[in-house]
Amino acid sequence: MPEGPEIRRVADTLQEQVGGRIIDRIFFGLPRLKKWQSRLKGCRIEKIETHGKAMLTRLDNGLTIYSHNQLYGRWFFCDSNDYPQTKRQLRLAIDCQGKSALLYSASEIAVLDDAELLSHSFLSKLGPDVLSRTITVKHISKRFRSKKYNNRQLGGVLTDQSFIAGLGNYLRCEILFYCGLNPKVRAKELDDEQLHLLAKSMLHLSQQSYQTAGITNHLSDAKKLMKQGVSFEDARFYVFRREALPCYRCGTHIEKKMQAGQACYFCPTCQLL
Ligand SMILES: [Zn+2]
Repeated sequence: MPEGPEIRRVADTLQEQVGGRIIDRIFFGLPRLKKWQSRLKGCRIEKIETHGKAMLTRLDNGLTIYSHNQLYGRWFFCDSNDYPQTKRQLRLAIDCQGKSALLYSASEIAVLDDAELLSHSFLSKLGPDVLSRTITVKHISKRFRSKKYNNRQLGGVLTDQSFIAGLGNYLRCEILFYCGLNPKVRAKELDDEQLHLLAKSMLHLSQQSYQTAGITNHLSDAKKLMKQGVSFEDARFYVFRREALPCYRCGTHIEKKMQAGQACYFCPTCQLL
């Protein structure tokens, strides 16, 4: 599933494609949403926002199109007269002055006013967005120290969208490796300095991934690897999907264990704590 940085990059492209433009035609594939097609035609797209993995397309009539890609949803951008040939189900199409934004296969789509956004069953439970300009290390540390999260294993709490929204499986593995923390450690076992480093690296690696289209590995190391012919997928991570391969720091083989329902990759030597 795409994580916060991937969704934010798609939102940037969506903004370039249709942001600020008037909707000439809008199509909803789900029958329950068909009623909006005539009502949203002629609206201007004010801006595209994200909250964690949720996309919020804000319109000038006060309504917002909420969408969540989940596992299979995928945005596609093209000219309005050049829709792709695909067997995927088209769930949302926005045509604006010759440019189109198409969302395939997603089923989590809704048109909401501001009150409905606040009370929405998924959105209302989200914690602060990890890519938000206003979130701080202090803010994250404080949340870790709260009764609700202090006693939970980091491997589980990092992907809990109600804690901080936007981190998924690859980011949690990479953040924990970066800080040398075992996924089973709890915030209450960390001193203030360790917690500070953890919170800081959550922001740093998420921002780096956003800016580099998914590299969480040390940037110069990743570039060096790719220069040597290693593929982007094999160079981008410290530990994620690197089971049985040597750790870049210590040479120990990376291990994989299930945690919070997902495969968690870690270095048993670097992440002893
Ligand atoms: Zn290691």
